[in-house]
Amino acid sequence: MKYDVLIIGAGPGGIFSAYELIKRNSRLKIGVFEAGNPLDKRKCPIDGKKIKTCIGCKPCSIMNGFGGAGAFSDGKYNITNQFGGTLYEYVGKNRAIELMKYVDEINCAHGGAGTHLYSTANTKIKKLCLQNGLHLLDASVRHLGTDINYVVLENIYSELKDKVYFYFNTPVGQVLKTADGYVAKTEKGEYEGDYCIISAGRSGSKWMESVCRDLQIPTKSNRVDIGVRVELPAEVFSHLTDELYESKIVYRTEKYGDLVRTFCMNPKGAVVNENTNGIVTVNGHSYEDPARQTDNTNFALLVAKHFSAPFKDSNGYGESIAKLSNMLGGGVIVQRFGDLIAGKRSTESRIEEAFITPTLAATPGDLSLVMPKRILDGIIEMIYKLDKIAPGTANVDTLLYGVEVKFYNMEVEIDENLQTLHKNLFIIGDCSGITHSLSHASASGVHVARYIAQE
Ligand SMILES: Cc1cc2nc3c(=O)[nH]c(=O)nc-3n(C[C@H](O)[C@H](O)[C@H](O)COP(=O)(O)OP(=O)(O)OC[C@H]3O[C@@H](n4cnc5c(N)ncnc54)[C@H](O)[C@@H]3O)c2cc1C
Repeated sequence: MKYDVLIIGAGPGGIFSAYELIKRNSRLKIGVFEAGNPLDKRKCPIDGKKIKTCIGCKPCSIMNGFGGAGAFSDGKYNITNQFGGTLYEYVGKNRAIELMKYVDEINCAHGGAGTHLYSTANTKIKKLCLQNGLHLLDASVRHLGTDINYVVLENIYSELKDKVYFYFNTPVGQVLKTADGYVAKTEKGEYEGDYCIISAGRSGSKWMESVCRDLQIPTKSNRVDIGVRVELPAEVFSHLTDELYESKIVYRTEKYGDLVRTFCMNPKGAVVNENTNGIVTVNGHSYEDPARQTDNTNFALLVAKHFSAPFKDSNGYGESIAKLSNMLGGGVIVQRFGDLIAGKRSTESRIEEAFITPTLAATPGDLSLVMPKRILDGIIEMIYKLDKIAPGTANVDTLLYGVEVKFYNMEVEIDENLQTLHKNLFIIGDCSGITHSLSHASASGVHVARYIAQE
């Protein structure tokens, strides 16, 4: 039960820590503790027929297990410092990009080669955006797609499984500091390690708070992003998605000066449910395989909310809004843009009459009963702006699913090695509050592994 390194969480952060540690020193004894299942046992029961909505499995196969929250994602690895996290503030801009490129190389070497790497460099779309008050952020995007992303994870697991001790269905309850290391307490036993890397992701956010409280690691509150997922015919955005795949476009609203941004664009993709701690929100993904693609493109429009004193619980605020949509719709609500503007709810028949077929079975309803006015006004303003660069966006039949909430973990106090005030205790990936993407979380794992290996 004694390890050199304990890793808590087998999402991208944990996987890349283990991968890099073993690569640098194959003699290391590493224990990885994961609350969820191995990859091949991760099955969400929603089949659209017998089970249509989330039934709250524990652990949730979408969020937990080998591959973490990203296992069934679209597998978009954005190589950029402009979004996806603030890792560069800790490790430096060049180093952050170098780490993300390295992660890309590993993904390519494990099944991702041949997938497309898109780039905003030299695109005319940037000018088109600027001419319409919109701002396109710079990035290179490796799009693995949900299918290839899975293959890459399978291949990395095959390589690691005989070199690393994996404990699945083993949530860590407590992390204790001892005289010469750390102990991970689980229901199956206690495991000691000289080093401990915590990479518990978003699903581990509440647990992370308790660890920080117990070990007196300072934290500060983060923002929450609230919005909707937009779904429209793929042709409307094809000139952007064909060239860039994903375009992160930011707009400052005229009414309130809030920033609204596009997020997680899925050309020819599908809208899906996401369950975070029992609250059902919306997300999206798409496949690289043309046979599995749809006729629609979806992306989120999000407004960031920061709170200052006396209110600090930004995640609680986002949860309350998501709960309201769950209360009214039994899950996610869908509304046609035209109905929203006309001030009426969408109904089954209005959705059926539309010239677009929804890819998610959501409850037709009225998003204006759920979303705060300020946020909804910002989203509507942005849809009209996007209509200027992609005519058809503000069509009556454009579907809006709500709510999409991006919860961020509170920011944990860590140094440039992502080490806490406790020597040899590292907090990485989304649970640190400094990353919120596959590439940044993976890069943080590599960064810490290199530091430990060098030590
Ligand atoms: C549907 C969906 C689509 C997404 N699409 C994209 C995308 O295309 N591109 C992108 O950049 N990002 C995307 N993301 C975000 C991305 O998945 C995350 O940013 C990334 O997975 C974070 O990695 P992580 O290792 O920090 O945490 P996670 O991936 O969340 O992994 C953490 C792991 O820790 C485990 N864990 C938690 N608590 C404990 C505990 N106490 N003991 C043991 N194990 C524990 C969890 O079960 C989980 O498996 C998507 C997310 C979702 C949900």
